[in-house]
Amino acid sequence: MPKYIFITGGVVSSLGKGIAAASIGKLLESRGLKLTLVKCDPYINVDPGTMNPYQHGEVYVTEDGAETDLDLGHYERFTNALMRKENNITTGQIYYSVISKERKGEFLGGTVQVIPHITDEIKSRIKKVSQGKRLDVVIVEIGGTVGDIESLPFLEAIRQFIIKEGRENAINIHVTLVPYIKSADETKTKPTQHSVGRLRQIGIQPDILLCRSERPLSKKSKEKIALFCNLNEEAVIQAIDVETVYEIPLLFQREGLDRLIIDMLHLKSRKQDLSRWENEVVKRAKFPKRRVKIALVGKYIALQDAYKSIYEALIHSGIAHNAKVEIERVDSERISPENLFRYLERVQGILVPGGFGARGIEGKIEAIRYAREQKIPFLGICLGMQTAVIEFARNVCALKGANSTEFDKHTPYPVISLLEEQKKVEVKGGTMRLGVYPCEIKKGTKAYEAYRKERVLERHRHRYEVNNAYRELMEEKGLVFAGLYPEQDLVEVIELREHPWFVASQFHPEFKSKPDNPHPLFYAFIKTALER
Ligand code: GLN
Repeated sequence: MPKYIFITGGVVSSLGKGIAAASIGKLLESRGLKLTLVKCDPYINVDPGTMNPYQHGEVYVTEDGAETDLDLGHYERFTNALMRKENNITTGQIYYSVISKERKGEFLGGTVQVIPHITDEIKSRIKKVSQGKRLDVVIVEIGGTVGDIESLPFLEAIRQFIIKEGRENAINIHVTLVPYIKSADETKTKPTQHSVGRLRQIGIQPDILLCRSERPLSKKSKEKIALFCNLNEEAVIQAIDVETVYEIPLLFQREGLDRLIIDMLHLKSRKQDLSRWENEVVKRAKFPKRRVKIALVGKYIALQDAYKSIYEALIHSGIAHNAKVEIERVDSERISPENLFRYLERVQGILVPGGFGARGIEGKIEAIRYAREQKIPFLGICLGMQTAVIEFARNVCALKGANSTEFDKHTPYPVISLLEEQKKVEVKGGTMRLGVYPCEIKKGTKAYEAYRKERVLERHRHRYEVNNAYRELMEEKGLVFAGLYPEQDLVEVIELREHPWFVASQFHPEFKSKPDNPHPLFYAFIKTALER
């Protein structure tokens, strides 16, 4: 059986539990341990696929086509663990399956209750994740903050889990905040004490505290936290703010966190090697030699998390080119032919990300036109590719009013439309074209130059497709269909011949970019942007 690390959070949300979990994963992997990570989300949606980015942030798509929490993106970027459907557990899924069992009569005669039925289902799902795999460790992050009503069944389940398996097999790491109060010139430990108090009321004694703070914790603060929270001082780890999230594993390592975990869980570890990560990721990220400015033209720019994987993928390619990527977030709803110039004049590359619905579409099309005409490096992703096709149809092929049927059901030129199989779909959740599909890359294209492969596997999340009825015309006018899904003859990558670098994909390359292994399309995009 693998060992379990349960990560909880207290005091406030947004403490970076996901990054902390991913960093612990990275550290343990650097000592030769095999692991996976799980995120438990206390909301009642079955998955975040039906949620608005303002509610949830990015929806992260796994190879097997699950729409999941963005923390799974952190897990894949920091570690070698491959995320699948079962790595994201939600309250919705738990209740769904317990209620289905009840209807089938599996609990005949009994009353179905939160304890034990819901908590048993949670424990069995957590265990299932490692089934059939030879893993040393499973890291389980519980979403939300201790004290929330929603997360109580999850906390009760891990309490039972830790008691049953014993502390040498399962531990709790609690992430808290130690705020710095300016007027007192002190870091304050009270919120942490209260948060641990809350956890102990539920019956969980944390084994390690990760204390987030902007200032270093004094010896006195550490002693105080240790005393009030029933811990050894060495188990009070400070997690001070850093410049780049990729430095966090190194920070934890310096604090002795991995050593501590290995001792507590009696794990056998090998000699640690973090040198590549340190030299090729962290140092380069912290001390870039160049700068490059990229505009991201989207409608959810106000929210930090809506395009999380795209921002990270840009950073990864910046790291590889020794450059700091400055991202100019441009609201596509504000863009018009008159003010375009003001937003885009100083950027070296333009990226249009994915999205749903008509809002902001015309602004994206204008930005794409600018990129095409001014020969500015352009990367389009999903809706970004679809809008590039619309722009080309309207402005190069003179198909006035060309559109996607997603935005205009009665367009005279439906250059983007639904496949027959999607027209029949009535249920919204989990019914898009999801997950990995192969794509054949045409030789002699910019996409091929980037990938150096004739066949790639990329992740999808969309319903609409390029309408093949317009392909011949668009090809004649200079649009290159550089990537296709052969089985159904679907367009996956388009590009322009007479342009330094104008490439767009129906799939989402950002989900497969890593800090030490940038995605080829992002890499080539940043490369040409730097040349500009
Ligand atoms: N709305 C478009 C579709 O459903 C694009 C989706 C996306 O960008 N992820 O096909």
